[in-house]
Amino acid sequence: MTTRYVAAIDQGTTSTRCLLFDREGRMVSVAQRQHRQSYPRPGWVEHDAEEIWRITRELVPQALQDAGVGPEQVVGLGVTNQRETTVVWDRATGRPVAPAIVWQDTRTAGGLAGLVDHLDFAEVTRRTGLPVSSYPSGPKLRWILDSDPAIRERAERGELLFGTMDTWLVWKLSGGLHVTDATNASRTLLMDLETLAWDPELLEAMRVPASMLPEIRPSIGVLGVTRDPVPGIPISAVIGDQQASLFGQTAFERGQAKCTFGTGSFLLMNTGTEVVRSRSGLITTVAHTVEGEPTTYALEGSVAQAGALVEWCRTSLDLIRTPAEIETLAATVADNGGCYVVPAFSGLYAPYWESQAQGVVVGLTSYVTKGHLARAVLEATAWQARDVVDAMIRDAQLPMTWLAVDGGMTADNLLMQTVADVLDVPVIRPMMAESVALGAAYAAGLAVGYWPDRQVLRAHWHRAAEWHSRITAERRDAELAAWHHAVSLAIAWGR
Ligand code: ADP
Repeated sequence: MTTRYVAAIDQGTTSTRCLLFDREGRMVSVAQRQHRQSYPRPGWVEHDAEEIWRITRELVPQALQDAGVGPEQVVGLGVTNQRETTVVWDRATGRPVAPAIVWQDTRTAGGLAGLVDHLDFAEVTRRTGLPVSSYPSGPKLRWILDSDPAIRERAERGELLFGTMDTWLVWKLSGGLHVTDATNASRTLLMDLETLAWDPELLEAMRVPASMLPEIRPSIGVLGVTRDPVPGIPISAVIGDQQASLFGQTAFERGQAKCTFGTGSFLLMNTGTEVVRSRSGLITTVAHTVEGEPTTYALEGSVAQAGALVEWCRTSLDLIRTPAEIETLAATVADNGGCYVVPAFSGLYAPYWESQAQGVVVGLTSYVTKGHLARAVLEATAWQARDVVDAMIRDAQLPMTWLAVDGGMTADNLLMQTVADVLDVPVIRPMMAESVALGAAYAAGLAVGYWPDRQVLRAHWHRAAEWHSRITAERRDAELAAWHHAVSLAIAWGR
């Protein structure tokens, strides 16, 4: 009998991957390539959607070829993606009309006051689950439309299409299907969280023509087949990257959570079919949807800068040559030497939502070395996770007894130890740390009956490493207070 596989495309912030998984959830092949990051002005971050499509087009046949797998052996494809990144393209030519505005981009921060017309911010948050900030895709789309009267005119005439990266890739892969799923749509500031439909009042307030918007489809379910570059594969799941990793960690039950440490860091807790409204600065979001089943929701704490700060130390400061060297450098010292870094490069996201905050380094003395700085860089990711966990415990009214982690930064043992230290709960990394791609594959496989049910998937989850706190409560509390002081300075600096 021919062996069958499920494929996933993981279109991330820094790179795109195409992976194949077998029935045991084992990765049998991975093809990966980075794309360019453009920072044309302070606070601006752009991608070239055409470049991302060109890369994706190469990776799909490569992943199949590397594993010696024919297209007829691939039963389904799941697409997962960096979420709020916004693309607008010409319906007829397929060409983007502007660079893609990346989720971290803060160019819209200054215009938020006039963004939603007469609607008050609390009402917009109630409908969408999102803070009115520079983070969602809606404000980015509005910015593109307002940037050039010709673009707005063409959009009003129905010539242009909007999409996040999932929509862009599925449109290209399928040869013209214009769709998204509810997890991605829940990041736009344009979708009603309970009806899962575009909200006409929000569209009007934000001046977005409805003709540009993709159809919102279930995350799990066949929505078409590929035509390019490998024809005939059912596209059977579309799900935002953080929701995919929640699924890949098999956090199927209410109360189960995970934190992904990649470019940013994202803690999500499954809240079941209940829409839990945050009072502590978290986002309420769709976890996944299946045709004919009630929607599963999640609470999310999004942090913009985690690995991105490490990347900045590498590319902008020349402090390290590879991301892994941050750990080596940090391990040359025993502590941060009194130094704290608040990486508010995209303002501060959860739980602060201060779009105008700017990064600060505080506590500098002659004593501080680059080792201390490296440690403060890693600690910034840990403290940001702590702020989000505290908010999550308050909002969900559920204790957190341990934390499942994944993402590129979990390769860093010192960071994971520091996360356990500051959270004071065990931090556990599963064998398969590619949870984003795995979640997309799980969703795609379930949709086509490759796996009979979710219970089967649970059995694939095995712990690979575990960290426990090694610091005293006194030290933790004192450092948390210092961190909060540094955060208040980053907020004050941006005002
Ligand atoms: P994404 O999917 O968001 O593109 P990944 O999960 O691939 O990100 O993680 C990549 C990020 O992790 C990069 O920002 C990189 O700097 C960071 N990173 C990778 N390895 C390490 C390490 N050993 N220590 C600290 N950071 C790391």
